[in-house]
Amino acid sequence: MGKIIAIANQKGGVGKTTTTINLAASLANQGKKVLIIDADPQANATSGYGIDPKSMSSSIYECLVDDYPIDGSQVATCVKGLDLVGSRIDLAGAELELVSKPNREKILRNVLASISDKYDYILIDCSPSLGLITVNALTAANSVIIPVQAEYFALEGISKLLNTIRIIKSKLNPSLEIEGFLLTMYDARLRLANQIYEELKGHFGDMVFNTVIPRNIRLSEAPSHGLPALIYDPESRGATSHTMLAKELIAKSRKAAVEQPA
Ligand code: ADP
Ligand code: MG
Repeated sequence: MGKIIAIANQKGGVGKTTTTINLAASLANQGKKVLIIDADPQANATSGYGIDPKSMSSSIYECLVDDYPIDGSQVATCVKGLDLVGSRIDLAGAELELVSKPNREKILRNVLASISDKYDYILIDCSPSLGLITVNALTAANSVIIPVQAEYFALEGISKLLNTIRIIKSKLNPSLEIEGFLLTMYDARLRLANQIYEELKGHFGDMVFNTVIPRNIRLSEAPSHGLPALIYDPESRGATSHTMLAKELIAKSRKAAVEQPA
């Protein structure tokens, strides 16, 4: 059974998609089998891998709304070991179409059940909302990574997100855990960025990843070439920081496996 991780924060522009694209590439580069689920109608993870939605036999929309089998809906990416199930703008309409379905919060969980043993990690790139699709992502996930932008008002909205996670944990997905808070677009020269890191550590302690993602131009350029930073510019700090993040995540999973009672 692969580990399913939702990348979520209802705030837009905090680095969810950048984290999904680059963490997935780095995990695959570490020898893991990885699947990205693009759960955002904006389809930035899909286009960030240079995948034309028209070339996909089906997107996550058909899997959720029309019970289309997800196995076969994956497309291979330019990274060995990394597949992606893409999104299309019509996913925006799925919120309404799913409302009347039975167990509407658990549809993605059921969809993923058929392929989760084919992958070591499944990363779900969420949209900037706490709507039904994101609720589906959090219900399907084993854990959630919360990217936090090192900017003013960084922690704004976090308590609402944590409250949603708490509700989903109590009503829909008892084993949901917070994998970690990830500081993104970090500029070490700015006192503010350091303050935000300290604040995050103060609030959430060990739940904050040791790895921080620097502000790095390569990370913002790479998607327009349809590539993760790891291929676009492997030496860039954008690429190396995501490799560190992947290693930190893998080490954490290993530690958790050791600590689990037999
Ligand atoms: P979200 O998915 O949360 O809306 P994105 O990952 O799309 O956020 O990031 C928002 C914008 O910021 C994008 O233009 C992206 O290229 C840019 N960006 C994200 N992370 C970084 C970074 N570490 N350094 C530089 N630019 C970044
Ligand atoms: Mg995004």
